[in-house]
Amino acid sequence: MPELIPSRDVTHAAGSFSVWLEQQQTARGSDVPCGSCTACCESGYFVHITPEDGDALTHIPEALLFKAPARPAGHYVMGFDARGRCPMLEDGQCAIYEHRPQTCRDFDCRVFAATGIAAGGDDKIRVNARAGQWQFSLTDAEQIELSQMQRVGAWLLAQPDAPSNGTQLALLSLELWGDLVDAGDFSTEVLRAALTRRIQQRGSRP
Ligand code: SF4
Repeated sequence: MPELIPSRDVTHAAGSFSVWLEQQQTARGSDVPCGSCTACCESGYFVHITPEDGDALTHIPEALLFKAPARPAGHYVMGFDARGRCPMLEDGQCAIYEHRPQTCRDFDCRVFAATGIAAGGDDKIRVNARAGQWQFSLTDAEQIELSQMQRVGAWLLAQPDAPSNGTQLALLSLELWGDLVDAGDFSTEVLRAALTRRIQQRGSRP
């Protein structure tokens, strides 16, 4: 599995770790301080568009939408060009920013920084680089939580039944960390049981 590209000189303030964590666990849509970064829009991600994305659907040309595999009618994906760029990216900016799909609003590359899991390989090198530059502001207690989260991420990376997709891995890692907090037990046995349960839950979803 590729690794994050640790920052040598450049850092970006990721904000309070607790605020970020609460957003991840409760909110829909992330308030990411992207600045001028468009790494995720240029990294070969398929953008999933759901029937709830009515506003986005009126702003994306029909020719760019393809039926989403294994999803009900009304679900689409928008692809990317040969350089991995979303077709709605124009002159380095999202041409439909105010109308962008929920998938884009939810994407938060700070999850890679928090879990220590890379977004992917060469095609995700810009996201990995950005993730390596994030610096959360941390209290002593938050530093302990972050270290725990990264230990869970490192453990998950070594499991043969873990997903291979970087985003899925990072989000699963976050869920597992939450399971351990709920259990009040960070042992490998509890972690293994939590992973097995999470994989079974995913497998049983329609
Ligand atoms: S729709 Fe806009 S925000 Fe979403 S990937 Fe494309 S350019 Fe980026």
